[in-house]
Amino acid sequence: MYRTHNCGELRLNNVGQAVKLSGWIQKIRNLGAMTFIDLRDRYGITQLMVDDKSDADLLSTVSGLGREFVVMVEGKVIERSSKNSKIPTGEIEVKVEKLSVLNQSEIPPFTIEDDTDGGDELRMKYRYLDLRRNPVKEAILLRHRMAQEVRKYLDSKGFIEVETPVLIKSTPEGARDFVVPSRMNPGEFYALPQSPQTFKQLLMVAGFDKYFQIVKCFRDEDLRADRQPEFTQIDCEMSFVERKDVLENFEGLTKHLFKFVKNIDITESFQQLSYQDAMTYYGSDKPDLRFGMQFVELTDSIKGKGFVVFDGAEYIGGICATGCAGYSRKQIDELTEFVKRPQIGGKGLVYIKMEEDGSIKSSIDKFYSPEDLAAIAAKMGAKKGDLILIMSGDKKKTLTGLCELRLEMGSRLNLRDKNKFAPLWVVDFPLLEWDEDAKRFFAMHHPFTSPNPEDIKLFDTKPGDIRANAYDLVINGVEIGGGSIRIHDKQLQQKMFEVLGFTTEEAESQFGFLLNAFKFGAPPHGGIAFGFDRLCSLFGGADSIRDYIAFPKNNSGRDVMINSPAPISNEQLKELSIDIKKA
Ligand code: ASP
Repeated sequence: MYRTHNCGELRLNNVGQAVKLSGWIQKIRNLGAMTFIDLRDRYGITQLMVDDKSDADLLSTVSGLGREFVVMVEGKVIERSSKNSKIPTGEIEVKVEKLSVLNQSEIPPFTIEDDTDGGDELRMKYRYLDLRRNPVKEAILLRHRMAQEVRKYLDSKGFIEVETPVLIKSTPEGARDFVVPSRMNPGEFYALPQSPQTFKQLLMVAGFDKYFQIVKCFRDEDLRADRQPEFTQIDCEMSFVERKDVLENFEGLTKHLFKFVKNIDITESFQQLSYQDAMTYYGSDKPDLRFGMQFVELTDSIKGKGFVVFDGAEYIGGICATGCAGYSRKQIDELTEFVKRPQIGGKGLVYIKMEEDGSIKSSIDKFYSPEDLAAIAAKMGAKKGDLILIMSGDKKKTLTGLCELRLEMGSRLNLRDKNKFAPLWVVDFPLLEWDEDAKRFFAMHHPFTSPNPEDIKLFDTKPGDIRANAYDLVINGVEIGGGSIRIHDKQLQQKMFEVLGFTTEEAESQFGFLLNAFKFGAPPHGGIAFGFDRLCSLFGGADSIRDYIAFPKNNSGRDVMINSPAPISNEQLKELSIDIKKA
């Protein structure tokens, strides 16, 4: 037996007990008369004390110990003279009587403490050591708790967990596929699922009614902090449901997770915002509603005063930053630089300061009289002490720029508290998105998304105006989930493929199996998928999803620990009938 207790559980009421512990050595402090050792395992840290009057064998073993050695100790629990209130075991220590080294360790390449000296790449290379650190370990434990709660909730609602295959063919989420060559079928490839979309729909045709799966998905996209080439979805589908039913169910799941993982009770219903309103008031289909600062459009009310920048603009809009009239020249310059960054591409920033003394100062007072400015301020709902920031130009670009500016102001004003959560549903997305380069429509969600029934008639006249029966769950400006009511009618599905520019043959060869299934009594159905890694990092208060994945990839999609991707041998290539072209 290696242990009677773990390193996180001994307390004052264990004092006097003989115990056995096993774990890793975090730290050794030799104070002469005694040596203190912090022993760590998954559950915590227990201080060990070795008296210098202990027998010679023990003292010699202790003198040979180093960081990260794995040891087993036997001893007595005693009350500490100087207590540590920062750790749960801080009132006791174990007076060591016997210590055996179970395994030695080389000196680790970075310190295994909450604050480490290891850089990103180094920690990724030795991920198993990084995982020993508290913050990373906690992230993985949080993920585990979340997954269990998801299963508990969905099981209680009658959902069944079904696994779907990983070696499949191209799925329609709009990213690039990862492909796997088939040895038994030379020249042919499987694709890894971008999502189990088609399979979950087939499960509905099969009559399973309520499905879920916590499942790996693969998309070959450029990576960002909240993207990994392989990521996990909580994937769900239900039959005989309308939008309202799906939203209710998954609002329920979200509230359950908040309650049982974060102990936060959300009693009110999630707000619903149409895509149109989200774009109009926040310039984004994933608005951060932890704070207001909605856009006010000024396009029609501010032109015609000789200011060419505004007069020639397709769109003019502003935000009002409460209490910021005192912003200095330098602060305004910083904001101007912020919107001019190439990622945002703003031409400039106009400000109106509503001074405390009732006067108005502005960067456009050459063109606008105090009365004009007061009228703009009234339209913006600005009060004494507020700062109005206005951007103008091409509509789409300006809305995006204003969105970034609003988020920046939200951050500067500490309105984006990580412990506050603002969930909402964004609904009524456009079904189709026009791509000017390709001169064709793309499905905004995916081609199985049903149009709003009253918009179906627009297929032949104005397809761009069709609203989708789709929805996204957004929390704190992060898209946490998305889904839709699906098309379950073969004709409508064919129509959709047509609008998307698929020939009948292409639709048949790519998705014939689904169209075929729809001939055999497909029930009305709909579903949703949550980005599980994002949800975990949101709950954990982090910006990156990496820490919530036990073995993540770096920004170039590499696993630097196992060094993958890597070339394969010529024999393997031959077996797969693949020739590599030399660059
Ligand atoms: N398959 C979709 C996605 O991965 C989600 C859904 O429509 O259920 O975004």
